[in-house]
Amino acid sequence: MSTTYNPYENAQIQFDNVAKSLGLDGGMCEFLRVPQKELHFTIPVKMDNGTTKTFQGFRVKHNIARGPAKGGIRFHPHETADTVRALAMWMTWKCATVDIPLGGGKGGIICDPPSLSAGEMERLCRGYVRQIWNQLGHEADIPAPDVGSNPQCMLWMMDEYETITGAHYPGVITGKPVGMGGSLGRTEATGYGCIYVLKSLLNLKGIVPESTTASMQGFGNVAEYAARMYTELGGKVIAISCWNQADSKAYTFRKADGCDIVQLVGIKDAFGSIDKEKAMELGYEVLPGDAWITQDVDILMPCALENQITPAVFPSISKQVKILMEGANGPTTPDCDPLIKDRGITVLPDFLANAGGVTCSYFEQVQNNMNYYWDKVEVLEKLEYAMTKAFRAVHELSETKSLYMRDAAYVIAIERVANAVKLRGWI
Ligand code: GLU
Repeated sequence: MSTTYNPYENAQIQFDNVAKSLGLDGGMCEFLRVPQKELHFTIPVKMDNGTTKTFQGFRVKHNIARGPAKGGIRFHPHETADTVRALAMWMTWKCATVDIPLGGGKGGIICDPPSLSAGEMERLCRGYVRQIWNQLGHEADIPAPDVGSNPQCMLWMMDEYETITGAHYPGVITGKPVGMGGSLGRTEATGYGCIYVLKSLLNLKGIVPESTTASMQGFGNVAEYAARMYTELGGKVIAISCWNQADSKAYTFRKADGCDIVQLVGIKDAFGSIDKEKAMELGYEVLPGDAWITQDVDILMPCALENQITPAVFPSISKQVKILMEGANGPTTPDCDPLIKDRGITVLPDFLANAGGVTCSYFEQVQNNMNYYWDKVEVLEKLEYAMTKAFRAVHELSETKSLYMRDAAYVIAIERVANAVKLRGWI
């Protein structure tokens, strides 16, 4: 029997469970479990064939007690208001966990990026900003890239905002191209951030990365840079599952002695699809899309979309797996957490593990405000410091209070946000 999961319900279940154990005031719970503000709007776009197509857009501000709303805009055919609500909520916890002075927000557009031309994409990005520009701003709400969007999209959006407002505001959006207000290291930040956290965990467990193997889902920005750094540290990625645009199907690419990440990057497209024929020529086994989860490896790295690790697939996870590193947002459903916990698998929860992107976005904004740009080494040093510090706090709480890692991260994040709400006198 297949279960349908709603990410927003999942995010609320996770919050409710921890809020209850924290003994949070009823009014506070009611306030924190829903977004503060939502915008739903349409974006008419002139298509290359002369017709006009109307796209549906969303922007959700979950909580702004600790700072302006911050979060990406996801371009995806299956985007829904509830997915954006969930992602906005997770952004609130993410920014609080790494202790950056930002709130949680998220945007979405229902669209299929590979089917749009560059011109259509540009008009869609500009149209999105035209609908909500007066709700954005470096002190109000700052978008960034997410699934299906990229630095070029961010620059079109910034340009539209600056054209409307008549001044330069590079800090209105992050993830811009380097040289145009973007930060060095932002492209790598989310994936590298995952591995900084994984490295700290392995270190505490007395395990050297060289002795470990991993299997991952996704080969977009997060997965690519996580795989690059993990293999540079000596780890072996045995299998990578990703979507194939050509046949609208996912495949797992496997090499028992370890995938050559740079080689695979050379045969992937802008949307993270690996060329199947070329991969076969290079000696990769091509397996069904879900084979990544059944591999005999030490670490599973879901780095694609939500709702991938469920009770239905859990029994097929190898007993060898000891760490679940969540590069994606919401890859694990709440009903699977007890199973993971029982088996003793350590979870590096999404809003801790993948917080490197937004942390570097924060650095990008700081550089924009100063109009002074740092070297890549400086950015990555600050990023590693922030990620390691956040990981240590979560790990320590999980050890001292015998908490599941996800719950420990929630405790830290919820307490910080609830405290800001209380200090402001909202509740
Ligand atoms: N979309 C990324 C995330 O989910 C980055 C957000 C940002 O940089 O604001 O964390």
